[in-house]
Amino acid sequence: MKLFAHFDIDAFYAQVEQLKNPQLRGKPLIVGGNSLRRSVVASASYEARVYGVKSGMPLFQALRLCPRCIVVPPDFPLYERSSRKFYQLLYSISPDLEILSQDEGVVDLSRCNLLYGDPIGTLRRKRRAMVKELGITVSLGMASSRLTAKLAASRAKPNGFLYIPRDKELEFLKTFSLEDIPGIGKKTLALLKNLGVNSVSDLLSFSKDKMKETLGKKGENLLLQLHGLDFSPGIAYERPKSVSRGYTLEKDIHTPEEARPHLLYLSDSVAMRLREEGARSERVCLRIRRADFSESQKCLPLSPPGNDTLRIYQRALSMARSLMTGQPVRLLAVEASSIIYADQKLLFTPPEERIMEAVERIRKKFGFSSIRFLGEKREGPQGVHVFRNARKLF
Ligand SMILES: [Mg+2]
Repeated sequence: MKLFAHFDIDAFYAQVEQLKNPQLRGKPLIVGGNSLRRSVVASASYEARVYGVKSGMPLFQALRLCPRCIVVPPDFPLYERSSRKFYQLLYSISPDLEILSQDEGVVDLSRCNLLYGDPIGTLRRKRRAMVKELGITVSLGMASSRLTAKLAASRAKPNGFLYIPRDKELEFLKTFSLEDIPGIGKKTLALLKNLGVNSVSDLLSFSKDKMKETLGKKGENLLLQLHGLDFSPGIAYERPKSVSRGYTLEKDIHTPEEARPHLLYLSDSVAMRLREEGARSERVCLRIRRADFSESQKCLPLSPPGNDTLRIYQRALSMARSLMTGQPVRLLAVEASSIIYADQKLLFTPPEERIMEAVERIRKKFGFSSIRFLGEKREGPQGVHVFRNARKLF
């Protein structure tokens, strides 16, 4: 039998802000931009939602509804870190995982039913453990199709769990209005209304062929999902094979000496990301782009494999010495590749890594810029690029 577990973090940005700043807990909070006229609500705490504040609403409108709401600007790197932790926890349940957004993911349990024996009970416990681990609440919906699981999660909010047994699914779906069904937008809704379809019940009485005729393949799939028939293939989450950080410099540089603070910053960011992933790298690469846009790159092995800033930096600097021959350079990128994950191979912990673990703990508490290497560029330049698919670049 197919079984899906849809996880959705409640009021994601708002909860992360409340976790960061305990003074904001229990208060109506809006995460949004700083322009009253042009910004919109990126996220609202449940205390703010009571007043009718919703994500996507213009900020001035939200403040009209809730004048005592506190507005804080978004801190995206922080949300990204929470997100990654969330993904890792989902991945630990099953690699048959589809990440839907920063705060939403669905695990296809169809293949690990046997592994978990009682998948419902297990997942229910896992949700609770996840809430503890993340420090923010997550809701979980379980059902035999992705669609129903998602709706179950939305009904379970906040901080809830809802499993809809197979034989109760249709009944459950009928409690939603057509607008609530993911995949039914304004256009589809109008089309359906024209056909006399005004409720989920009406829709469920449609035949598969009629649905295909009126709404195409997407409509057919929607109907199948509503009937608990989920044929969409599971997409396995792939852990990064490489991590890289790079950016265009504000001003061209000419010597490895000038590159030093940047390389230290880039190596530090790469190393931190590796540590967050519980990974070590066996190879470090440096890529430079000159003022005339010609590019060169070089790679060196990292042996034993590691994730400490200084060793990655030393490799990067030595490559900069051979690659930089006096011509103006406009871009630097450091990449750690041939990644080994902690669960793939057990390695001894080199002493440098124990130091880095201490650095990590400090940063977790006080933020990335709370502790730096001597000589590291003080601020990450504007718009540091995170190259997710580093293969394209190197
Ligand atoms: Mg959410």
